[in-house]
Amino acid sequence: MAGSKVTVVISQAQGRNPIKRQLEEDIATALIAEPGIDVSLVPHLYDMSQDHSGMLFLRSVPGNVVVLGWLYERAIRWTLDRANIRGKDGMTLLKSADEESDDDEEEDTRQYNGIGSVNVPNRRVYCIDMRASESADAFVREIRRISEENSVQTVDLMSWIGGSPQPEQLQRYLQPERLLEARRAFDSGSATHVDKATLPEDTGRRWYPVIDYSRCTNCMECIDFCLFGVYGVDALDRILVEQQDNCKKGCPACSRVCPENAIIFPQHKQPAIAGAEGEVSGLKIDLTKLFGGDSGESAVEMAIKERDRELILDGREAVGMSVGIKQKVREEMDQLIADLDALEF
Ligand code: SF4
Ligand code: SF4
Repeated sequence: MAGSKVTVVISQAQGRNPIKRQLEEDIATALIAEPGIDVSLVPHLYDMSQDHSGMLFLRSVPGNVVVLGWLYERAIRWTLDRANIRGKDGMTLLKSADEESDDDEEEDTRQYNGIGSVNVPNRRVYCIDMRASESADAFVREIRRISEENSVQTVDLMSWIGGSPQPEQLQRYLQPERLLEARRAFDSGSATHVDKATLPEDTGRRWYPVIDYSRCTNCMECIDFCLFGVYGVDALDRILVEQQDNCKKGCPACSRVCPENAIIFPQHKQPAIAGAEGEVSGLKIDLTKLFGGDSGESAVEMAIKERDRELILDGREAVGMSVGIKQKVREEMDQLIADLDALEF
């Protein structure tokens, strides 16, 4: 259909890894010439504040959107959701190695009955982990496939649907060629003041939990457990991450006590905590490592230890198991670990 477009947003890697930069650049360059596709680059999705102009730009995209980032698909989806960038799940065929099914391994049979997202518009959001391939062609082929399966009439991207960005804030994302050029100059150290002005604003690295509402049952275990004021509830009494920057860098403690595995720390080194699919009963990932420590500690023990460490670093008293650990959760986690220990991986 004439005038149909799909918008592709590439969320760039942290740092200046030349291989990652090259892949981003190759994909963007190929897509710029592709009919029916608009392409833009934004900084790393997880690091952008809610009012960062890259996030405002993402919110301004009115139709179907493909978001590529250096995170697991689930982590991309729920980080977007947190920023009110929502839509129905678009199915992507390009998966990172940790998420591909393996016939030798058991199927994930767990059914999640989460409270779900709210105010989901009638469009599709496709999320692609850029670690899925080293080849730009693979991404371009998948985006062509998505573009062909959609017939999306986009409206002028400047027709703003939320917030009040300055036009120049959006312009930088509407001109990916200029952005690529500026990024190259910046990464090579030859950027001038003018070059830098073309770049998206800097983002500091962040660390905070992202909630997967397709799994979250609103049980409030996390708000009881966290003693650092990260969680809150919204007007509908739904759990939310309210003070994200209160979270303790590197610590994933509450993800270990969430009974639904609904808490994602996208930058954690263990795939299941970082949002890889199929983690619990799929047994594709080492569950002992997901929940507990290498030395055989249970998930709850690990979480308590991590929380106590952060309390002490804050000059507060350790609380051990006396706060925020429900007996039922404790028993369930211990049973799960015992069951897993009995399995042979
Ligand atoms: S502990 Fe998990 S399931 Fe319960 S409210 Fe928190 S995120 Fe949701
Ligand atoms: S990791 Fe620790 S500080 Fe961060 S939200 Fe969870 S319990 Fe709170």
